[in-house]
Amino acid sequence: MTGIERGFHPLRRVVHRLGDIAPHRQVQLLCAISVITVAILVTAVLSSLSPTHDSLQFSSTTLSPAVSQIDAAREKYVAAGAALQLANAVDPNVRIAAIAEVGSLNASGETAYNQYLRKSAHLPRERAMQQTFIAHRQAALNAGAALVSQAAPSAAGVAEVTRSSEKLRVDLNNIRGLYETRVQQSIASSQSGISSTQREVLALSGAAILVLLLAFGVASRSARSREERTEVLDRALHEDAERNELEARLQRSLEMTQTENAAYELVSRGLIISVPGLPAELLVADSSRAHFRQATTTDEQGGPGCPVMSPNECPAAAWGQTQLWPSSTALDACPHLQGRPTGECSAVCVPVSIAGRTVAVVHAVAPDAHPPDARVVATVELIARKVGERVGMLRAFLRSETQAHTDPLTGLMNRRSLEEKVRGIVEEGLTYVAAYGDLDHFKQLNDVHGHDAGDQALRLFARVLRDTVRPNDLVARYGGEEFVIVLPDCQISDAYAVINRLREALAEVQAGTGTPAFTVSFGITAARPENTFSQTLEIADSALLKAKATGRDRIVISSTDGFSPSPDPAEAVDVVPHVTV
Ligand code: GH3
Ligand code: MG
Ligand code: MG
Repeated sequence: MTGIERGFHPLRRVVHRLGDIAPHRQVQLLCAISVITVAILVTAVLSSLSPTHDSLQFSSTTLSPAVSQIDAAREKYVAAGAALQLANAVDPNVRIAAIAEVGSLNASGETAYNQYLRKSAHLPRERAMQQTFIAHRQAALNAGAALVSQAAPSAAGVAEVTRSSEKLRVDLNNIRGLYETRVQQSIASSQSGISSTQREVLALSGAAILVLLLAFGVASRSARSREERTEVLDRALHEDAERNELEARLQRSLEMTQTENAAYELVSRGLIISVPGLPAELLVADSSRAHFRQATTTDEQGGPGCPVMSPNECPAAAWGQTQLWPSSTALDACPHLQGRPTGECSAVCVPVSIAGRTVAVVHAVAPDAHPPDARVVATVELIARKVGERVGMLRAFLRSETQAHTDPLTGLMNRRSLEEKVRGIVEEGLTYVAAYGDLDHFKQLNDVHGHDAGDQALRLFARVLRDTVRPNDLVARYGGEEFVIVLPDCQISDAYAVINRLREALAEVQAGTGTPAFTVSFGITAARPENTFSQTLEIADSALLKAKATGRDRIVISSTDGFSPSPDPAEAVDVVPHVTV
């Protein structure tokens, strides 16, 4: 930081503090500054004009009236001096008239002089001049009196009177000269006062303009920065409101989805509505996490088509974080952005996670060096988060549903689930054959080889069961070591064949494993329309009991319906009559 910059800091601090004042306070401050500035300006101008005003007033009220009276006195005395010339006339009438005229003029002159004295400004040397004038006036009066007192005209008397009159004129001129000089001084001082006032007015106006400019500058700058802050706040509020609305709408629409694919579809619908024109796709990992598949896209051409094969190869999926790629040409750009047929681009990749585990990635592209802005990224993240939550919920629901319907040890249907499914079969109007199986001497197997070996035997039997039946057949662990098989739309002979195949397969499988050997007994029956499922099972159970009673490891059919099993004694088939419960 330079010394100059440091020097500006206090001023900038003041400006910033002023900027923090509320706008209405700033306007008040500005008004106060303006009023104070104008008041200072007016006061300064008035005080600087005051000497000029005094000087002019002195000149007009004191000097000018005195000069007028001096002029009047001088005129009268000069006129009296001239009239006195006539007093030297031979004609007595002329003399008398002249003397009267002189007397009158003298009186007027004296009056004017006295008025001058009253208006006298008492200038330096004026008093001495007045005394000289009074002496000369006395001399002139004396000369005049001598002239008129003579019986005959006298050239010498006239000459004396003329000299005396001239002295009076000179004296008054001298006094007048004093005043004229003083008037000149007043004018000069007024002029200099005016020009210094002009300079002061200019300087003060300049300073006032600077102060006002500074004040207005601070006010406008603070108003602008407040406007900018308000604009930013408004924009943020607007974006928040938009995002909240999008979130609420997404939430509602996701709650209506019942499958993962329907939830994935909302990614592209949400993006098309909230960020129109953004080419984006959703890549979903399969259950093995070995492959990605495109679940949905906003692009009619099927793009952007990221070539990444599996989540492990995708940086966003592997790191579990949003990745913004400003340019595919950057050294550290994602390798899957490079060499695309659509050319160079920027991109954002947002993982969709369930409980911290990435299950999908939203991939969106934009022109090279112009990556999606923060608002777009936030929108994509919001959609990814909401869809992740919904898919997580759907999976959890499916898991709990499966758990509720499945036997945890064997993975087969449980009793409740089987009953529901059979209800469906009956509602469809289908017939079925029920086979009730029970492992033989299983208690003994447990006792001899242990409970774990028993569990293993149960799992093995379940696997053989699953592998033997058709996809439409129902296989359930009905409890303990008892199993029920329901074969829809099946003849008793076919059912017999299936169960027999099962027993053979069980024997074969056991031969290849270390599982302790065990057999199974079955009671089977064809369901009759008048019987419920539990009644049908009771009949099958009766047949099973017979199978147990007659030596186990065999099948007993409760009603042959004309079917005659093979007489092979190894199959140990007992045919019992139909039991009606
Ligand atoms: P039978 O041939 O008459 O059916 O004789 P059994 O011993 O199989 O019949 P029983 O009803 O006396 O015994 C059934 C045994 O099955 C008792 C029980 O310990 C065992 N069992 C039931 N469920 C399980 C299981 O989940 N795991 C294991 N290991 N054993 C089980
Ligand atoms: Mg049993
Ligand atoms: Mg048993």
